[in-house]
Amino acid sequence: MSNKTLRIIFILSVVCAILTIATQFFLIKKAYELEKTTFNTHVTFALKNVAVHLLKMNNNFSQVDSIVSQVEDNFYTVRVNDKIDSTVLETLLKRELNTQQIKIDFEILVYDCESENVKFRKYISLNKTEENNDIIPAKFPKNLKENNYFAVHFPHLDTFLNKEMISWGFSSLVLFLFLVILAYAIFTIFRQKRLSEIQKDFVNNMTHEFKTPLATIKISSEVLKNPNIVNNPERLLNYATIISNETEHLTHQVERVLQMAKSGRDVISLNKEWIELQPMLEDIIDKTYKPLIRSRGGDIKVQMLCKSIHFEVDKLHIKNVIGNLLDNAVKYCKNKPSILITCNEEKDMVSISIKDNGIGISKENLSHVFDRFYRIPTGNLHDVKGFGLGLNYVRLICKQHGGDIKVSSELEKGSEFCIFIPKKFKR
Ligand code: ADP
Repeated sequence: MSNKTLRIIFILSVVCAILTIATQFFLIKKAYELEKTTFNTHVTFALKNVAVHLLKMNNNFSQVDSIVSQVEDNFYTVRVNDKIDSTVLETLLKRELNTQQIKIDFEILVYDCESENVKFRKYISLNKTEENNDIIPAKFPKNLKENNYFAVHFPHLDTFLNKEMISWGFSSLVLFLFLVILAYAIFTIFRQKRLSEIQKDFVNNMTHEFKTPLATIKISSEVLKNPNIVNNPERLLNYATIISNETEHLTHQVERVLQMAKSGRDVISLNKEWIELQPMLEDIIDKTYKPLIRSRGGDIKVQMLCKSIHFEVDKLHIKNVIGNLLDNAVKYCKNKPSILITCNEEKDMVSISIKDNGIGISKENLSHVFDRFYRIPTGNLHDVKGFGLGLNYVRLICKQHGGDIKVSSELEKGSEFCIFIPKKFKR
């Protein structure tokens, strides 16, 4: 799958997810409003019926069209303008609300316009528990001077409506799960894609790393096939040495790959010993890097901020770590390499920083350089050889020592890798 297709799939999925969530919110809101309206319609109908019955009992046949008012979402008043028998009212309300499927606790209030007071108040609980007089009902409207009113208050209306919405909650949960699964699937596709690119890069690098020595060995062995070569022992030795060197180089590369592959799974066993940093560093630099860097017209300096730094480490692995970082500092430098190594000891932690003036690493690649097989993409140009395993190994060894590695870098300016190793190995 190409990057473009993946990007389109990603964008479409995000847009669809946003639209689905927005639609769900909209539908839930609508459904809630519908529930409220239905409740209101049923309650109004029930209250009108109650009023009609009350009036009929008083032989009053007045119009009841607009006698029910919804003062608040959960508070209704009914203007009866006649005597109200509270016992009859209670019975009628229970019956009519039940007929309308309004199965929820409510409170009855009867307002007397002469005394301007609530003369009757009762909490009707459906599950027959005790009266609940703690609930403060909404206030009667002010302009009730001339009429007798009764009112019905539903203190638990919100809970009731929320219960009615449970099926929506369930569908939202299913939708949410679906979106999580979709996000995970997209994330997996991206990860797989990155892994397959890394693998492809690795195979490319391997091929390049092995192709050159194999070609050299092939040419040299062709030369050795010539029977006349025995007459020129110097040439013969020369070609035999080339074959031997290249074979050794190949063996070394294969060993390196195998060791790295193994180190990903196992915990490397360390042979700890107390060593002094400076002589070890100078040994590595003098033997390998000084000649190499000088041959390219560059320079390498060591700065010891603390005298005589000793630490307990696996000498071989720490040498490899420093070697890998120095290899990179030279490899990824297009001009004359200028490398500064700074060593320090602070709070029982030894730090070794290797700063170069190389090509640098962009911010987006910086977070990946320690991943296995990761090499910064360079298109089809494979001018610098490598497997993308060196820094992964360096970090692994630092961590195994109880330490860590940090990197800072700027494109075209250079990079600084700093390793931190505890002075004393923690068992
Ligand atoms: P490699 O075998 O490719 O050198 P590493 O794990 O050592 O593998 O490095 C991973 C990648 O990080 C390299 O491919 C390179 O692009 C980048 N890198 C590492 N060190 C440096 C450096 N000092 N300067 C610039 N880029 C670097």
